[in-house]
Amino acid sequence: MSYIGRLAPSPTGAQHLGNARTFLVAWLACRQAGGELLLRIEDLDTPRTKLGAAEQAVEDLRWLGLDWDASNHEQSFTVQSNREERYSQILEHLKERNLVYPCTCSRSEVEQAASAPHESVLDGTIYPGTCSHRSSLDAAVLDRSGQKYAWRFRMPSGTHEWSDGLFGTQSLNAKELLGDFVVGRSYGVTAYQLAVVIDDHDFGINHVVRGNDLIFSTYRQNAIYHAMAWSPPAWLHVPLVVGTDGRRLAKRHGDTRLSMYREQGVLPEKMIGYLAETLGLTKDVSSISALELLASLGPNNDWIQRMTRDNIVFDPERH
Ligand code: GLU
Repeated sequence: MSYIGRLAPSPTGAQHLGNARTFLVAWLACRQAGGELLLRIEDLDTPRTKLGAAEQAVEDLRWLGLDWDASNHEQSFTVQSNREERYSQILEHLKERNLVYPCTCSRSEVEQAASAPHESVLDGTIYPGTCSHRSSLDAAVLDRSGQKYAWRFRMPSGTHEWSDGLFGTQSLNAKELLGDFVVGRSYGVTAYQLAVVIDDHDFGINHVVRGNDLIFSTYRQNAIYHAMAWSPPAWLHVPLVVGTDGRRLAKRHGDTRLSMYREQGVLPEKMIGYLAETLGLTKDVSSISALELLASLGPNNDWIQRMTRDNIVFDPERH
């Protein structure tokens, strides 16, 4: 089976050097395998989606020298907000099988009801199951009364196991430690967890390379693949770039937007050189283009196993 990978930026803000590092790994792994790489703009998080950020992400990728292949004949990339019809079709299917239920809990209600000590340790508050007694058919009653709700997916019980291309075997009791999760809203917008699975399946993506902030989402997405009897892709989660406080790179750590470096006249080769060094692909920070870096790796993908499993600390004082 040939390799089909993807780049999936979210236009909720500018892409920063942490995003660039993950894109570089996704690009190198796919291009080295002679695969096809698709671009998808993940713009469903509407309140947070910033105007112009999608175009800027495309420009950032071009600037870095990371190319991709056309996902259909009209456009060189897919935009999630154009695919709502397809997402609703699958959500209907999940409703018919009662694999999802309408949940009327507000965020603060969920937080108050979840009181066990391990809450929020892994990946946010664990939904305590307040609405899980509901059937998907109860949505009709809620619709009539005008009550808002979200669709939650029933996480199957038991231990879930899967294998990560860098971190190896992953296993936990996802029902207890992650809980049922939101896949859609009553006003029609599909949540990330469902949209990403439908897209990856529909476009034949068989290799996903993304940041390890999504490692727990993989349990959720595997549960959806399983429910749909679709085969999940091979997963590879790349350690993040964090600030000196150990937290995921954000505005408070200074301006690390790719557009800022671009505007300041930093050469993309310098950026790729820095990222390659943090990935352990080059011995020192020297300028190198993405294509030169790819050529330097040769045909063997053992560089993936040599990547550090620790997050990378970005210290603005040093750069
Ligand atoms: N759009 C997500 C992000 O920018 C990536 C989602 C994924 O790779 O599954 O973090």
